[in-house]
Amino acid sequence: MIAAPSALDAPWLAPQIEQLRRARCANRYPTGLLIHDERGAGGEALARFAAQLALCRQPDAPCGRCRDCRMFGAAQHPDFIEVHPIEDSKMIRVEQVRELSEQLVLTSHGGGATVALISPADSMNANAANALLKSLEEPRAAVTLILVSAAPSRLPATILSRCLRLRVVTPARAASVAWLERHKGPGPWSTVLDVLGDAPFEALEADPAELARLTRQIRQEGIHALFLDSITDPRAMQQVAKETGASIGGTLYGDALSKPGGEADTYLKMLRHDVTTLKAGMMKN
Ligand SMILES: [Zn+2]
Repeated sequence: MIAAPSALDAPWLAPQIEQLRRARCANRYPTGLLIHDERGAGGEALARFAAQLALCRQPDAPCGRCRDCRMFGAAQHPDFIEVHPIEDSKMIRVEQVRELSEQLVLTSHGGGATVALISPADSMNANAANALLKSLEEPRAAVTLILVSAAPSRLPATILSRCLRLRVVTPARAASVAWLERHKGPGPWSTVLDVLGDAPFEALEADPAELARLTRQIRQEGIHALFLDSITDPRAMQQVAKETGASIGGTLYGDALSKPGGEADTYLKMLRHDVTTLKAGMMKN
């Protein structure tokens, strides 16, 4: 079985982990923590480590054995609150932040810390960020807010100034490959990182053989246009296009309609949209 990726076994996150441990030992655990990461470098995993470190009450935290750690590991800790964009919108809305703020003023369920993870934090609009500011300015004791963002300059300075900032940088290629081999065994990991970009935590999800077959087929058959579909993350396909010289022909809707009011929100509009996109995508070449 493949072990779940954890910040603890990614050597390039060791300095940040050490800094968090020292802060906890000195009883100076931050109320606001900003993890400034790069795509797939492990910022989210570091955020989860930071959350568990705040929730676990044992001297050797995060111990992995206590009730807090077990509930956290099972994604059932009542005092760990996650805020992410609502599915299609790609935005964290002010209502979500208000709801979070209401929970943060209450005493924790378990009598220990309360931790909120907001990711990606830059997907908060201005109203949402303002609503969050109140929780950062007047926090209840033992509250930690963890913000993860690859683009913290999009956050208001008033929020940034109240957070301890930890930078997570993409490791050197050799370190990524060694880490991937340790998790998933030998494979053409350098090629996978070429295609996906140097993003080890994303490469961990990839099937290198499948990716190699796909790029080989695109090159051999001289395929010029690739089409995205509505429910997958476009980034991997954009990287495949870059690697093979094919172009992205557009987005097709097959598995799901677009948002209401969007370009393919009924089946009839979907059919018309897909035919037009296919035609335009192939004509481009
Ligand atoms: Zn524990």
